[in-house]
Amino acid sequence: MDDLRYSSELIKCVRCGACKALCPTYLTALDETMGSRGRIAMLGAMKSGSLLPSSRLSDKIFSCILCGACRDLCPTGIDILETIYHGRVKLKNFYRRGRLFSKAAKFSIPMMNSVFFILRGMQKIFYQPLYKIGKLPYIPEITSVPFKDSAQVYKNTKKIGRVAIFAGCAVNYFYPHLGGSLLNILLARGYEVVVLKGEVCCGSPMRAMGLEEEAIALARKNVELFNRVRAEAILCMCPTCTMVIKREYPLLINDTIEKIMDVNEFFIKNDILNSGHNSPGELKIRRRIVTYQDLSEKIGHKKNRNISDTNADTLVTSCPGCMIQFENIKRQSRLDIDIVHMVEIIEEAMCGEKAA
Ligand code: SF4
Ligand code: SF4
Repeated sequence: MDDLRYSSELIKCVRCGACKALCPTYLTALDETMGSRGRIAMLGAMKSGSLLPSSRLSDKIFSCILCGACRDLCPTGIDILETIYHGRVKLKNFYRRGRLFSKAAKFSIPMMNSVFFILRGMQKIFYQPLYKIGKLPYIPEITSVPFKDSAQVYKNTKKIGRVAIFAGCAVNYFYPHLGGSLLNILLARGYEVVVLKGEVCCGSPMRAMGLEEEAIALARKNVELFNRVRAEAILCMCPTCTMVIKREYPLLINDTIEKIMDVNEFFIKNDILNSGHNSPGELKIRRRIVTYQDLSEKIGHKKNRNISDTNADTLVTSCPGCMIQFENIKRQSRLDIDIVHMVEIIEEAMCGEKAA
């Protein structure tokens, strides 16, 4: 969004409040400054000069969890999410909590593998003692071999099709076994699969911090890399990455990864679940909770209640980022529940249980 569009979006607000009906931060805090209408009003006031940029103001604008629930609710057609993103670009230097992350992100983008390698070393030495005394949240163990480093073309004698995988950072660095599960499913169904080492972060964390230029650089790298691949679909294992690539790349760089597709959409379109011998797995899926919702710590307690009310023994999600959040809730609340990704359930149904 350019400055002209930003200004014209802000003056369209008639303060009707329709957008805050589903805003989770507003519904949790019951504070106008923590909701979509308040954020648009504050950005409007900053634009007109009646409110000065400050760390307090930036806290309110950065408290939006970018869930998109306000999308399409505005009767005057304001693109609230994009307006908030642009507001963050304006306020990024005032956001104290994000300064360290911003500096670290700028430094780490060109060398993600090296940075995660260093973090892995630090995690091994410092993390456990601090986690045990409650000073740090649950963070999965950083892998020594990111999934994307298994890069190659996985041939298949059946070759009913050829697809590539966009794993996303959470799978690459925290849950590479999920990439392995997806590979097993696709190979079992007869697909040739391409994994690319050059995949970079989708850019979502950088945009969230107001680092638009850095997000643009990442978007360009991914588009250039994945649009060169010969494949009928690029399967994305993280709904946030899929959403960013599909919706936000065109706004950022006027281009996108043309064949990007959420992995579940691909499974349904290509009847992957109907392998003819997976009825026990189908049954299991129906007995478990399936959720695609994003989660923030602020609304974690509500989620916690929702989860424990189900009495389910397994929680299935399609989002590796949500798996980390759910693990945190589980450990804080001492819930006895397994948290797994959808591809693990499908792999189990199609290929049998993995040996422990
Ligand atoms: S995107 Fe932000 S402002 Fe919109 S509903 Fe979600 S938390 Fe509220
Ligand atoms: S719905 Fe649109 S016009 Fe109404 S308060 Fe929200 S941003 Fe303003």
